[in-house]
Formats: sequence, structure tokens, C-alpha cells
Amino acid sequence: MFYFDPLYFVFALPALLLAFYAQFKVRSAYSKYLQVPNMRGLTGLDAARSLLGPLALNQVNVEGTPGELTDHYDPRSKTLRLSQGVAGSRSVAAVAIVSHEIGHALQDHEAYAPLRLRGGLVPALTVSSWVAPLLFFFGWITANTTLAWVGVAGVGLAAVFALITLPVEFNASARGLSLLRNYQLVDGRELSQAKAVLDAAALTYVAALAQTLSTLLYYVFLLTGFRRRD
Ligand SMILES: [Zn+2]
Repeated sequence: MFYFDPLYFVFALPALLLAFYAQFKVRSAYSKYLQVPNMRGLTGLDAARSLLGPLALNQVNVEGTPGELTDHYDPRSKTLRLSQGVAGSRSVAAVAIVSHEIGHALQDHEAYAPLRLRGGLVPALTVSSWVAPLLFFFGWITANTTLAWVGVAGVGLAAVFALITLPVEFNASARGLSLLRNYQLVDGRELSQAKAVLDAAALTYVAALAQTLSTLLYYVFLLTGFRRRD
């Protein structure tokens, strides 16, 4: 930002609070259920192996990845990357997270439309995420409204991306929970604990959408206010 605008906080604060709350929820659910052993005594890696085989996802590689809560499935390299905390843990949290990531691998295998659409937007988004704010503020400061609206469109793209992320994530969790149930990796009580972990994680994506939308609204507000002053 080129200057401090208190108005920005009026727009950004609700989404920012939601993001903090979501981070708190995901951290507390993760650390709570990392202490709860699953009944089968499976590590995250065991759970991955015992699901990938029966699902005929033998082309999926399993690798380690540094950090905490960094577990993800990479559709380009067909790789399931598990953090050390998850891969080696015999907890409910570990099997919950693994099942969610395998949900993504299944989406990829079935060419699930929202996942493909989301993947297609990544290159454009990588550029627009840093170019769009610059275009907007440059356009706004130099009274070039066309340029500013191009910036708004770039932020709009980020909002579309965040919106498409929701069905991708909710669907991966739903798939993951049914895998845990159908392959009897957890019992009924553990299933609801696993759901608590995945629901908390899903909230962070809702918060990300809220943050993008609040930026978009702020830009539109500045721009339409500017035009009225003309
Ligand atoms: Zn996910």
C-alpha cells in the first residue's frame, strides 16, 4: 500500500478476525487430535498405503515434506506429500489429514471439474496476485480508471479462485471421511473427531474467500467513490 487508509480496516477487519479464528480452530483441533491414538494404530503413512492400493491409485507417489500442516496432494506430479508430524503419527488427526489428501488424489483421478478449473487458474493467478494491486493503485493515483478496473478484475480472479477452492476442499473432506468409514480405518467416535479436524481446516478456506472479497469490495468502493468526485 502507498499510504495508510483507516477505511481499509473497516473492510478488512471482519475477514481478518475470521482468518485468525480459523487458524486458531485448525491449530487447536490438530494438536488435540494428534494426541488421540486411532484404534487401528495406523500411522499417516500406513493409512495412505492402505487406501492408495485398494483405490487403484498406484501411480501416486508418497513423499515427505517439511513443516507442520503442510500436507498436500500435487496433481501435476501425482504426489502425496505428508509432513513428518502426520506421516509418523498414529493419531486420529493424522489419518483424517491423509484421507483428505487422498480425496484430492481421487478428484484428480476422476478429473473432478472444480479441481481442473482451479488448476487452470493457477498460472494467471500467480501473475495477477502481485500485478493487480499495483495496477489498481497506479491507476487510482494517476486517475486512470481503466487501469484501475483492470486491477479490480485481477483481484476478482483471485476471488473466483478462492470460491472454486471451496467445493474442491469440501468435496475432498467428504471423500476422505467416507474412505475412513468404508475401509474401516476408524470407528464411529474417531470419525466424528476426524470430521472436527477437517471442518476446522475447511474454515480457513472460507476465511481466505472472505479476505479476497473484502479487498475486492474495498477497491470497488475506492474506485466508485473516486468517480463520483470527478
Ligand atoms: Zn485440501
